[in-house]
Amino acid sequence: MTDSKKLIDIIQKISTQIQMDKDYLTELDNVIGDGDHGINMARGFKEVEKKLSDFSNKDIGSILKAVGMALVSTVGGASGPLYGTAFMRAGAAIGAKNEMDGNDFLNAMEAAIEGIKMRGKSHEGEKTMLDALIPAYNAMKKSYEENNDFKAAISKGVEAAEKGVEYTKTIIATKGRASYLGERSIGHQDPGATSACLMLKVIQSSL
Ligand code: ADP
Ligand code: MG
Ligand code: MG
Repeated sequence: MTDSKKLIDIIQKISTQIQMDKDYLTELDNVIGDGDHGINMARGFKEVEKKLSDFSNKDIGSILKAVGMALVSTVGGASGPLYGTAFMRAGAAIGAKNEMDGNDFLNAMEAAIEGIKMRGKSHEGEKTMLDALIPAYNAMKKSYEENNDFKAAISKGVEAAEKGVEYTKTIIATKGRASYLGERSIGHQDPGATSACLMLKVIQSSL
């Protein structure tokens, strides 16, 4: 699926996309949160970008852990520790490999999701990033088991994540700042599910 060099390229592209969607993510958070999700993500990934040149001789596990650490240390909001933990767990799951295949990616994604659940004390259906990531993971796993084709699997994953983002409009937030709104959070799209979907789309278009 990818080697360390290509992974660095994907991380760069994720950062570029986040910077481009900064205002959009912030506007979504303005409606149901405190209006900083885009700012938080853009700041975190700017810090990640600064570290990209240090990554060039590193294995995949170390690169992902360094991404996670940069996010945890620069993003004050909930999304920093959550995405940070996700990347660190993904790195730990892959370990000191210089190439990863579809199975490695799925194992890393599963570990990332477990990390978010643990750190956020959250699960599917609470109007969070998990509502994009968990359906995406399930769809990707199913597709990859059936066809052993990562490109096909990530397309299914993106489709499921997009549906997940739509689904967040229909449910009440019970975690994070949006939960303060209770029923009034219905009708609005979750910013974190949106940023998670955006990252998967970048991976899809980078392969
Ligand atoms: P903050 O809410 O601290 O300002 P952000 O605005 O950057 O942080 O991130 C908000 C996003 O984080 C939400 O849209 C949601 O997807 C996600 N989130 C918040 N709390 C949790 C949690 N406990 N578990 C999973 N995701 C969460
Ligand atoms: Mg916020
Ligand atoms: Mg905040």
